Amino acid sequence: MKIQYIAVIFIIIILPIAMTMSYYIGSQIDTIKLQSEYNAKLIDATYDSMNAFQINTVNNRYSSVANSKIRDIEAAASAFYTSLSDSEEIAKQDLREYVPALVFTLYDGYYIYSKYENVYGGNTAIGRPELDSTTLKGEEYENEGLKPYIYYSCRFQKGQKDFVVNFTLDNAITIYGDIGEGYKTYSGYLINPNSVTNLNYNENGSPLSWSLTYDKVNIGYELLTEHLLFEDSSQNDYDYLVYNGQKIYYDTGVASGGNKTPYFYYQNYSKEYITRTEANSTLIEYLQNRTRNNHLYSTSSFEYYQKAQDFSRKIGSLIGNITQADAINQEGNPMQFSVNTGTDKIFLANSNNDPLLSGSTFNEIRMQVIRKSIETNLTTAIAQYSMFNNSFYEFRLPVLTEEDWSKVTNQVSLISFLQGISIGHKYYNNYCVITNDKNEEIVNEENIYIITKNSQRQREYHLPGCKELAKPQTETGLQIVDVAYSNLSFLRQTVRISEGNYLYFYPQTRNNQTITSCYHCMVNATDVYPADQIIEGKTIEKDNNWNDVVKADATKSGSVDKRLKEIREYYIRALGRERYDLYSTNIGRFSM
Ligand SMILES: [Zn+2]
Repeated sequence: MKIQYIAVIFIIIILPIAMTMSYYIGSQIDTIKLQSEYNAKLIDATYDSMNAFQINTVNNRYSSVANSKIRDIEAAASAFYTSLSDSEEIAKQDLREYVPALVFTLYDGYYIYSKYENVYGGNTAIGRPELDSTTLKGEEYENEGLKPYIYYSCRFQKGQKDFVVNFTLDNAITIYGDIGEGYKTYSGYLINPNSVTNLNYNENGSPLSWSLTYDKVNIGYELLTEHLLFEDSSQNDYDYLVYNGQKIYYDTGVASGGNKTPYFYYQNYSKEYITRTEANSTLIEYLQNRTRNNHLYSTSSFEYYQKAQDFSRKIGSLIGNITQADAINQEGNPMQFSVNTGTDKIFLANSNNDPLLSGSTFNEIRMQVIRKSIETNLTTAIAQYSMFNNSFYEFRLPVLTEEDWSKVTNQVSLISFLQGISIGHKYYNNYCVITNDKNEEIVNEENIYIITKNSQRQREYHLPGCKELAKPQTETGLQIVDVAYSNLSFLRQTVRISEGNYLYFYPQTRNNQTITSCYHCMVNATDVYPADQIIEGKTIEKDNNWNDVVKADATKSGSVDKRLKEIREYYIRALGRERYDLYSTNIGRFSM
């Protein structure tokens, strides 16, 4: 073949292919570049939104101002859109159009923020998805915002029993319907009732004489302390307890006399003493019954386990035989879950079904109910979004990973979706899940911090599964002190003295000595024992052949075993107390 032919063939055939290829590769690179830019944008906006939510809720801690959850969520949603449209590198288009939904998952239910058909007249269908706009007649208009709150609920039917269970992010449940005693409502915490022994409880006796044993941990009253800083810059440590969701402190320097009591709320950076009035009489009696020898003690931990045992026994006897097969959907058909717990009894708590452990049947079903509810309602919301959008793109719920579902079903979280933006040869479609572990919604099992102090009285706080903490005292010089607290007790608090003049304090400061965070678990957090292992009292490590070996066993008597036993005792007490203090009062319907 002549060389000219080869040249012609090259020009006619190879060159166009090469040019097309290089164009294609170039645009593929553009697509990937755009994709990662949108990913980064989505993650940033979701973080900003979660931060806004955290700041709003945590800052309300020391305030008596009624905390409006809807206001906090709307502020968080607005932070999301602001952050998303604040874009330099990405062409100025309204990215808002490409967000079919935001989902805020809270303690006992969730909000979907999206466009939806609203119904004139303000009809709401709170917790009743079956009554959503489709069945309500009226003057409809397009709206954007929070759809009605949806509870994590599931209906069960067996024989004459027909009831709905509202699940939460932890072991608290509310049951309403007929479970054998006519139509009634029951609320409480499900625990293994057999774990509570040695119960010493007389409702009319002194609360300081109450005691019980929860799975080898003795629980009675506890001394809780916080450091406070006031508007006049004075500061001190005070005993406290929580009553009706509010911390009440004890001022030993104040003699009780006249109308004044030594108990106060921390209000607007100063002490607001509780006065003797008719309305306060129950409260004052509650406080006096818990005061002894110049100290105020909390009985919340005891009350949590005592009430939970009572509740769990009752629930076990009434609906102990309910299994997954009895769960039905709104049409009355069996619910389809992606796990099969077979004939396991969901609400019969015992050592094989311990609701505090993540692998229990109760927990499996709880997570399935939450997931199913969110999936169903979100699929509808996103599909509806197509109706309000001018593009030809069909909005659809992407597949969330198992890991993301595990986050969503166990923690307060925000799920955001961004889809339908043309990026070269395809459409962008992704989602982002950000969790929040500092909020007033839930005390997660990982969010109990253990405090140690050394011989110089320097205090340090740790994750319960910290491996440095787990070492015997003789090795590290660490020493467990009196108590463990929820992670919120370690956040910096701000006192506003005047415009531009702020002071800061940490509630876990003692004798004016600041507490520090452990380098091994808090600062450099990674390799820790899961909370499940602390609850079970057995820490597990992998040997060289990747087999499980028991590192420490709280029932044994080696030095690491004793250390675990000690950590576990403080952990179990704090978990009950912090949960009791947060919900029994904060969420009114959890009356137990
Ligand atoms: Zn640590």
